[in-house]
Amino acid sequence: MQQFDVLIIGSGLAGLTVALKVAAEKKVCLVSKRKINDTSSSWAQGGIAAVLRDDDSIEAHIQDTLNAGAGLCDQEITREVASHAKETVEWLIAQGVPFTREQDDSGYHLTREGGHSHRRIIHAADATGHAVQVTLADQVLNHPNITVLEDHIAVDLITSRKLGIDHEETPSCLGAYVLNNKTGKVVTVGAQNTVLATGGAGKVFLYTTNPDVSTGDGVAMAWRVGCRIANMEFIQFHPTCLFHPKAKSFLITEAVRGEGGILKLPDGSRFMQQHDERAELAPRDVVARAMDFEMKKRGLDCVYLDISHKPADFVISHFPTIYRRCMELGIDITKEPIPVVPAAHYSCGGVMTDHNGQTDLNNLYAIGETACTGLHGANRLASNSLLECMVFGQAAAKAILAEEKKNYCSTPLLG
Ligand SMILES: Cc1cc2nc3c(=O)[nH]c(=O)nc-3n(C[C@H](O)[C@H](O)[C@H](O)COP(=O)(O)OP(=O)(O)OC[C@H]3O[C@@H](n4cnc5c(N)ncnc54)[C@H](O)[C@@H]3O)c2cc1C
Repeated sequence: MQQFDVLIIGSGLAGLTVALKVAAEKKVCLVSKRKINDTSSSWAQGGIAAVLRDDDSIEAHIQDTLNAGAGLCDQEITREVASHAKETVEWLIAQGVPFTREQDDSGYHLTREGGHSHRRIIHAADATGHAVQVTLADQVLNHPNITVLEDHIAVDLITSRKLGIDHEETPSCLGAYVLNNKTGKVVTVGAQNTVLATGGAGKVFLYTTNPDVSTGDGVAMAWRVGCRIANMEFIQFHPTCLFHPKAKSFLITEAVRGEGGILKLPDGSRFMQQHDERAELAPRDVVARAMDFEMKKRGLDCVYLDISHKPADFVISHFPTIYRRCMELGIDITKEPIPVVPAAHYSCGGVMTDHNGQTDLNNLYAIGETACTGLHGANRLASNSLLECMVFGQAAAKAILAEEKKNYCSTPLLG
């Protein structure tokens, strides 16, 4: 049995943020299923949405988010997240995240992504998530108040109800049982507050862009202790994941379609114009649905994305990583089409929380992709998710720090 002030389950951007924000005052245990940087956060490519220029506005960011969410976003939460974006990015800059600067060094370079009405995506080249993850993970690993348990899987939450010691109507979370993957032993980790930051559930699907760790564990654990779960039907699919037995999860960026890539059936014919007048440039969900329709109708394993009609040096210079990875698998994208399938990309739903990340149980928080805060509604706006991890990571940390020291029960756990 180990006892901490705060137990954080998950070492992605959500977990790391809350850990760093409470560690000055609290004794923290952070558990990670594999190594600390084995997270979806590490794989994020595009960047983080934030209003950082005078020609943009919080109102515009809110409106873009509501439009993407198909009328199902929580407006208050959306305002809260958009309003805290700038200070969140400034905090990351202060931590040393090497965001890409303008060529003339006049400030940070901002890109524009689908669904955003303005340039507002701050990024670190095309590997933003990795840059943020390693910067924060490094600080967490070196913090004297944070104990990191890698290769440890949380298997179940401990609650006052399970132990038969409920003093209030609402049960409290008292920690978790954690399996040490190396020894096969289960450790009891008691904590005054527990934070679920276990990421998404993409691995529930056959094809996903997510890493192996994204198996929805936090949602399952929260459900088992009686938390409400919402919007799990809203899984965002990315249209173009490489289809190859050895490729595992490899994303073919939307920019390939943006630069003229054409979706084709195995006989070389085009099909997107029959589904939407914007053809290959229709939004993600429309393209993914059209591909799924064609594959099911014709019994196909995949369709093809063809950019080989563009000059080879253009393709190689615009998409060096994709070119390299496909070549390793024997596909020369300058000469032949890329086999692709739609893949589960983002879980919009999850454990229901309030604006501090508080769940239905006392002393249990859920933040990041595992939570359903109401920000994404039916469909996440690109680059809003890393932002959500950090805004709610900070909000949960504030709430935890503001709590009066409760007379929580370590004795029954020890017994
Ligand atoms: C390829 C790709 C590209 C993306 N690009 C962008 C982008 O450009 N911008 C953007 O905003 N979003 C992007 N996203 C989405 C974004 O990366 C995720 O939503 C976000 O990183 C989720 O962070 P998180 O901290 O909630 O979870 P994660 O970063 O996934 O971390 C989850 C952690 O929980 C741990 N864990 C899970 N279960 C257990 C358990 N039972 N016990 C112990 N530990 C456990 C895992 O090991 C991991 O450490 C992208 C996602 C992918 C897959």
